[in-house]
Amino acid sequence: MHMSAPQHDAPAPVEPGPSAAGTMLRLDDVSVTYGRGGQALAPTRLAFEDHAVTVLLGPSGAGKSTLLRTLNLLVKPTTGQVVSRDLGALAGIEKIREHRRRTAMVFQQHQLIGRLTALSNVLTGRLGQHNFWRTLFPLSLEERELAMTCLDRVGLIDKALSRCDQLSGGQQQRVGIARALAQQPSLILADEPVASLDPASSERVLTKLRDICKEDGTPVILSLHQLEYARRFADRIIGLAQGRVVFDDVPDRLDAAALSAIYGT
Ligand code: ADP
Repeated sequence: MHMSAPQHDAPAPVEPGPSAAGTMLRLDDVSVTYGRGGQALAPTRLAFEDHAVTVLLGPSGAGKSTLLRTLNLLVKPTTGQVVSRDLGALAGIEKIREHRRRTAMVFQQHQLIGRLTALSNVLTGRLGQHNFWRTLFPLSLEERELAMTCLDRVGLIDKALSRCDQLSGGQQQRVGIARALAQQPSLILADEPVASLDPASSERVLTKLRDICKEDGTPVILSLHQLEYARRFADRIIGLAQGRVVFDDVPDRLDAAALSAIYGT
């Protein structure tokens, strides 16, 4: 287990494993400082593998969103680099654009268009796959079939033609996941995807994300507030405190000392 107290003096470095064939994405000494503010993410080395669900835990302000946003380059590293297995070091607009096209985001507020049907919302996941001119034409039958398959995978085929604003919060989040799937991503990132859901809906959403990861091999990296869900759904937990990785291990190793390092209790 790699763990250190969340202090600023000499934190134990958390080393990524060797660059195994399964490594899909790496952070090489990535740090983030916003404007003139303090460092939101200290230099961090992490590697993410296929077939693994990784949960980011940490108190508010610990750097979970910053880490997630760095992984799709929505936040640019102040130092270090993000390296993809397929694209190499992610620098330059073309590579970053391609990496984003392959990376699906699932948000807390799902960001669906309420007056559109579930199917239409899922189809918006396809738009980023085409150049501008192509998006001016109706999507093909093939695309619609793909969107229906994605809705089926999240158990919502019967809601395909329902307006999204008539679906429950949990169903809307599953439409958000179907939209992410329609992007045929190599990586799925989710920022507190169950923060506003009841327990039954949360479990359904987390089960779907885990199933997708296991069936497709697509790494899923998500931030959560609920420890119990992290223990149940994660293969790996990364604990952050004050912008530093202070825990990186399997859920079984998340003991009182680890929790104290993460939450300072
Ligand atoms: P978490 O997701 O764990 O709540 P964040 O990554 O959102 O943490 O924030 C980490 C730190 O960076 C916090 O101190 C936060 O105030 C700061 N921060 C986050 N986003 C910005 C921003 N756009 N500009 C300036 N500071 C930011």
